[in-house]
Amino acid sequence: MNILVVGGGGREHSIVQALSKSNKVQTVYVAPGNKGMTEAEFVPISATDPVKLVNFAKEQQVGLTIVGPELPLLDGVVNAFQKAGLAVFGPTKEAALIEGSKAYAKTLMENYAIPTASYQTCTSTVQAKDYVIEKGAPIVVKADGLAAGKGVTVAMTQEEAFQAIDSMMEDEQFGAAGSQVVVEEFLDGEEFSLMAFVSGEKVYPMIPAQDHKRALDGDQGPNTGGMGAYAPVPSLSEVYIKQAIETILKPTAKALVQEGRSFTGILYAGCIKTKEGPKVIEFNARFGDPETQVVLPLLENDLLQVIEDVLAGKDPQLRWKEDYCAGVVLASEGYPGPYEKGNLVPELPHNKEGQFINYAGVSRHEDRLVSNGGRVLLVGALATSLKDAVAKVYNTFSSVSIEEDAFFYRQDIAHKALNSSAS
Ligand code: ATP
Repeated sequence: MNILVVGGGGREHSIVQALSKSNKVQTVYVAPGNKGMTEAEFVPISATDPVKLVNFAKEQQVGLTIVGPELPLLDGVVNAFQKAGLAVFGPTKEAALIEGSKAYAKTLMENYAIPTASYQTCTSTVQAKDYVIEKGAPIVVKADGLAAGKGVTVAMTQEEAFQAIDSMMEDEQFGAAGSQVVVEEFLDGEEFSLMAFVSGEKVYPMIPAQDHKRALDGDQGPNTGGMGAYAPVPSLSEVYIKQAIETILKPTAKALVQEGRSFTGILYAGCIKTKEGPKVIEFNARFGDPETQVVLPLLENDLLQVIEDVLAGKDPQLRWKEDYCAGVVLASEGYPGPYEKGNLVPELPHNKEGQFINYAGVSRHEDRLVSNGGRVLLVGALATSLKDAVAKVYNTFSSVSIEEDAFFYRQDIAHKALNSSAS
């Protein structure tokens, strides 16, 4: 079967790598992809051009299209494929609203008693500031719409919260995405990401992963799209994960059906471990990035078969390797702020068993890859212990010289987990 993957980041590279292992797959096309995805054939069509994507899928007899990023989902790429009668995996734009509007997600959780931080949706600065004064700091201010992972301020003081409200609502830092804001209770605890294959009310959870959102070691610096991840998470017991599935993932899928927004695709719950049990920080309507890069390598099943089963309403019987997987992002110096493009990407060895590279912000100049984005690539490794998986990744980095004024990576991915457990 020919497959079309829509998107061009590390997550899509991971999906492409998983699909290329399937003996059911003939050609994997990627639109637009990035030049590091050597397993796929590039299609020079934007991820947000549904008309051209549909035409391409018809012309090349694509048997299944998988949409990676949130923008094409919210733009209705899945709706366009469904309208054309083509097989597609991902939520409609109506169902993807659970990611596209934080205000919508919070209302849904409130109405269906899904555990999350207490909050208020605010449509004016006065209303938002009054709520901050009433609740006090620390408090969290979130732009309602998509802001590429930058629309959240965890304010430790009232002044910081006021500043965030002003820059989102008055200065329109995120454009229309900040015209309303969600102001919510600050939750303290360990974060984890739980993704599931979903079709209507049917939920097939993956193993949990942990992302590292801050740019710098010790969880310092600004929030990014994610600087590294590992899976599974040793500090989460099976009972706890089951609780998150039963109180968060399953009721959310059911609620979306009841709301007439039945969800097919990957539902991602960003959760936090609190004294009262797991609570939702955010929902995404797609595979997480970089969580996918450390979860899919642990999936024993054929990914295409899993997706076909989910689409056909059959239980895919997910099986997971006993191993751990760790991934560390190499980013352009300056990211998530302004950064230079066009730097030669270091040639990292990855031919050993259980090691891989997922490319993201890269393009090609002559015969070399050059940087073209904030997150450039992710080095990943599998091992029987988390410690060994992490060590394999860092050994790969230290085997080459990395230009310090061009690139950086966090040196402490999974260290908290390693310090608190014997994994
Ligand atoms: P993404 O790029 O994953 O879509 P986002 O912009 O949707 O991110 P969130 O995931 O909602 O943002 O928040 C980003 C980070 O801010 C979280 O990972 C968490 O560290 C912190 N955060 C968000 N909400 C809260 C909260 N209520 N309490 C404490 N920290 C929070």
